[in-house]
Amino acid sequence: MEKPKYHVASFSGGKDSTAMVLRMIELGEHLDEIMFCDTSMEFPGMLRHVDKVRQLIEASGIKFTELRAEHDFEYYLTTYEAENRKPASEFYGKPGYGWAGHKSRWCTTTLKTSVIDAHLKDLRENYEVIQYIGIAADEDYRMDRKGNQDPSHRHPLRDWGWSEADAMAYCRSKGYDWEGLYDIFKRVSCWCCPLKSYDELRKLRQFFPELWERLLDLDSRQIKKFQHGYSVRDFDRRFELEDKLTEAGHSIKNRQFFADLKRLLDDEATTENILQERSTAIHDEQTRSASAPLHGTE
Ligand code: SF4
Repeated sequence: MEKPKYHVASFSGGKDSTAMVLRMIELGEHLDEIMFCDTSMEFPGMLRHVDKVRQLIEASGIKFTELRAEHDFEYYLTTYEAENRKPASEFYGKPGYGWAGHKSRWCTTTLKTSVIDAHLKDLRENYEVIQYIGIAADEDYRMDRKGNQDPSHRHPLRDWGWSEADAMAYCRSKGYDWEGLYDIFKRVSCWCCPLKSYDELRKLRQFFPELWERLLDLDSRQIKKFQHGYSVRDFDRRFELEDKLTEAGHSIKNRQFFADLKRLLDDEATTENILQERSTAIHDEQTRSASAPLHGTE
């Protein structure tokens, strides 16, 4: 017997899925359910944004479903007993997955994909599920991914020809501002993501100092380097050195900076030592210049 159709939209809180959901509601398109999966590491401003959109969704008579994995991010990161670890592994017998990397994104699988897939599987027992996904018209690279080849998927933004910029402009025109998150970051994902760029980490430390402190704490309680062989503490020390040298008018774009950074991370110097040395070097240079014989004068 043919199962009834069930229309479900995936909503992450980001600009694309927000635009898709808001516009579908505005157009009166049929949606039975909108699902949001919380990784437990969303920015607080993102959770407040999700709550605002949720109110509109529910006021429109559409079911809003919040999904979560069995445990939160912190538990899997620091405590979970990872199976299949080989005895030869340096992490054998140690608790927690440790930070994800490009090759092993356990957090995406454990906290998002498998949770959403399990929910969809339940729905498919009784329905033919049509899933709506917010991929913009200028995001062809996302369409090429295996997970986005499913014939039951629909991509309204692409049908409307809406680019990422169009999606953002539409949300902003409706009064959504994510409390400034998109003014700081181009993309908004888990605040603790180890795949963030250097620039994004710097901004996290600058604009969200309380989250940065939590990141330092999490990092100290798990088993892997955060990124490229460096700990969050290493990044913290580098950012502090950059800030202090810049404030004091010293360059951070020369070989000297990287030599100093290496000494700092190897515990061979402190930020204060380095600042003092730089000031002394400038003072010595000025003294030498002042006492040098003048050329080209009689
Ligand atoms: S955004 Fe980063 S931390 Fe969050 S689930 Fe994806 S890879 Fe993991």
